[in-house]
Amino acid sequence: MILPIRIYGDPILRTPTEPVSESTEELRTLIDNMIETMYGASGIGLAAPQVGRLERLFVIDLSPLLEDLKVEGMEQHGAIPPIPLDRPHVFINPEILESSEEEVEFEEGCLSIPDIREPVWRPERIRLRYLTADMEPREIEASGMLARVLQHEYDHLHGILFTDLISPFRQRMLRRKLREIARGEVEADYPILTPAASRS
Ligand code: ZN
Repeated sequence: MILPIRIYGDPILRTPTEPVSESTEELRTLIDNMIETMYGASGIGLAAPQVGRLERLFVIDLSPLLEDLKVEGMEQHGAIPPIPLDRPHVFINPEILESSEEEVEFEEGCLSIPDIREPVWRPERIRLRYLTADMEPREIEASGMLARVLQHEYDHLHGILFTDLISPFRQRMLRRKLREIARGEVEADYPILTPAASRS
C-alpha cells in the first residue's frame, strides 16, 4: 500500500524515533508499504517518520542511481562487506559508530521537501551497525553515495532534515520557500499529507 508522505513542517519529522524491539506482522507490513511508497515516489530512501511512524527504521534502494554514478565517475560507493545496491534494503535501529573526518559535498533532495535541492557536506565514509529486516545484526563500512543516503535517512530518525545542514546563507535564501511548503503551498507527483492536513 502506498502511504502519503509527510511534508516539511509536520512535527512528526522532528520527533525522534523509538528503537524496534521485535519483528512483528505489523512491522513487516510497514516495511513493505515503505518500499512501495518509496518506489511510487521515485525515491532512493524513505524513513519511517516520513510516513507518520516512529519506528526506528528506514529503507533504501539505490538502483535508479547506479547508471548515473558510472557516468559521473562515482564508482567509489558501496559497502564493506559489500551489499548489492540494485535492490531494496531495510535498516532497523541503525547506529553510526564512526564517521570519516574527510567530508564531501553533494546535492541532496528529500521527498518531504519537494522542489528543493541543495548541496550538503557530509562525511565521506561511515561505519554503521543495524538490523536487517529479519532482525539479523550487521555492520558495514559505507562510502560514497551509499554513505550519503544512509546518513540522510539516519538523520530523519533523529528529527534532522538536510535543510538543517546547509549554510546559514542558503538557509536564509530558502526561508520563504520552506514557510510556503509548511503552509501546504506545495505540489508533488506522489501522495502527500501536508502539515495542516495531518493536524486535522
Ligand atoms: Zn529525506
